[in-house]
Amino acid sequence: MVAPEGLIAHGRGECFDYLLGERTNHFALKAVEAAAALILTSRHPVISVNGNVAALVPEEVARLSEVSGAKVEVNLFYRTPEREMAVYEALKRAGVREVLGVNDATETIPELFSERRRVSKEGIYSADVVLLALEDGDRTEALVKMGKKVISVDLNPLSRTSQTSTITIVDNATRAFPTLVKAINSMRGRQDLEEVLRNYNNRSTLGEALRFISGRLLELS
Ligand code: ATP
Ligand code: MG
Repeated sequence: MVAPEGLIAHGRGECFDYLLGERTNHFALKAVEAAAALILTSRHPVISVNGNVAALVPEEVARLSEVSGAKVEVNLFYRTPEREMAVYEALKRAGVREVLGVNDATETIPELFSERRRVSKEGIYSADVVLLALEDGDRTEALVKMGKKVISVDLNPLSRTSQTSTITIVDNATRAFPTLVKAINSMRGRQDLEEVLRNYNNRSTLGEALRFISGRLLELS
């Protein structure tokens, strides 16, 4: 399922997880709350799944899709029929009912080239909110330029994905997905979701993550 480049990206993440203390910190919880509010108020949310996400959290993707009604789309940076099928099957085994992006990736994301740009018309192409994890900065930027609201899960607060997303959850995908499922379940029906979103500032949340890392390093040293 995972391309060699994906394994390198995973290692980069593990390094940042050490810096974060391998736990879900306050800035991640704040971003999760805003992400839950955005998903609950969205019209057409889509979860974008690459090889790393399918390998790390397939069941959590299924659960998140179930509790939020979000569609699930396979979206690979290095698209081959073998990897498409492997990711598709992992999601099916995990209980995802409908998996988009395999035979129906006929639309294109402007500004991206080759196989990276292909998306499903019913999925990411028409989504108002896209949730992604371990994603490349170019693709995140292209989705934002298309007018999508992007929720990202990324351990590196300095990556271009983190810096350009609407809401960045700086946490390990293995912890962030279950946390987001819980938040959606507990916030459903709340009347103040728009207000939660209005009060959320991604710049300052990313700043908190950087200050946390900085403080932790000073303390440890
Ligand atoms: P960008 O392209 O956004 O500037 P990058 O080139 O480092 O950054 P990619 O390799 O394209 O990004 O995507 C991988 C990102 O996912 C990295 O920022 C990495 O820190 C992060 N990451 C790796 N493992 C995990 C994980 N388990 N949970 C969340 N994020 C992770
Ligand atoms: Mg990159």
